[in-house]
Amino acid sequence: MYKNFKLVDKIVFGRGSFAQLDSILENLRSSYILYVVDDVFKNSELESKINLINNDKLLWISSIDEPTTKYVDELTEIVKNYSKENPSAVIGIGGGTTMDLAKAISLMLTNEGSSADYQGWDLIKNPAVYHIAIPTLSGTGSEVSRTTVLTGPIKKLGLNSDYTVFNQIILDPDLIANVPNDQWFYTGMDCYVHNVEALTGTYINEFARSFGEKSLDLCRDVFLGDFPKPIKDEKLMMASFMGGMSIAYSQVGVCHALSYGISYVLKTHHGFSNCIVFNQLDEYYNEYVNEFRLMMKMNNIDLPKNITKDCTDEQFQKMIDV
Ligand code: NAD
Ligand code: ZN
Repeated sequence: MYKNFKLVDKIVFGRGSFAQLDSILENLRSSYILYVVDDVFKNSELESKINLINNDKLLWISSIDEPTTKYVDELTEIVKNYSKENPSAVIGIGGGTTMDLAKAISLMLTNEGSSADYQGWDLIKNPAVYHIAIPTLSGTGSEVSRTTVLTGPIKKLGLNSDYTVFNQIILDPDLIANVPNDQWFYTGMDCYVHNVEALTGTYINEFARSFGEKSLDLCRDVFLGDFPKPIKDEKLMMASFMGGMSIAYSQVGVCHALSYGISYVLKTHHGFSNCIVFNQLDEYYNEYVNEFRLMMKMNNIDLPKNITKDCTDEQFQKMIDV
């Protein structure tokens, strides 16, 4: 059976396109708008560009920890207490963590119970509130994927469903201009690893290859090429989009399988955990691992070593289980 792949409904791409948000919302407004925004933007220029009209609500979220089902349930409760009516739209502004939280809240506003009940495939019963993503960090591909990765009481597993996919995304490369270099690299490498795993994996097909090869080329331009930073930001944003399209029609591989366990036990972020693991995978991804090391060197990344040296046997067992 071939996948019947649900796409994002509407896409805007371009420098400064964030300014189009208000006109996009005009046709959607019947209730209030819920903005789910990474709290790294408190008192920033970006915050001043968010126009709260009438009873629109801005919900600051923390991305210190990656999203948990508990946090999603708490945030959903706050929104339900704010108004009896659901918002007309939920807008996630941030990196993968914020986009995943926005997806999850929009789903949980229309589906009863705890988000942990829906970890798995196609368990969501009702369509979500209209949801929009505005990435401020590129690489995860969350802007196009049909999942929101949540750490639950037992497992790290997504709410995978067609309803999870964003209705609208706004890709404005200006928004990723000021990401600190390390974070920019680690999240960008999530995209690089998605491509390597898709292209070398047994699920590869011409659909996934078309997007994956282009995304890989863009990653090489960004992390090995000699382009001005603004051009690199544009390329990385499209690399993330295409990497997400590729992986949606293929599968991740060895690196993701191992990195999930490390993130779960050590609470390290996804992109960083991928880098830690990928650096050890010469046996599986040989020339790509060498290329990855060159990318680290050219981007002045000093990857920490021995992060699992104090882990107990129990912790290793937990990583294996996850
Ligand atoms: P993130 O969203 O966790 O953010 C990392 C850090 O960067 C945070 O401290 C954040 O505040 C900061 N940040 C974000 N934008 C910034 C900006 N413009 N300027 C300065 N700082 C900024 O990082 P991420 O790597 O984008 O996302 C990781 C999450 O994405 C994980 O939870 C992972 O599970 C998830 N993920 C989801 C999918 C999916 O398909 N849904 C795929 C891969 C990863
Ligand atoms: Zn990933």
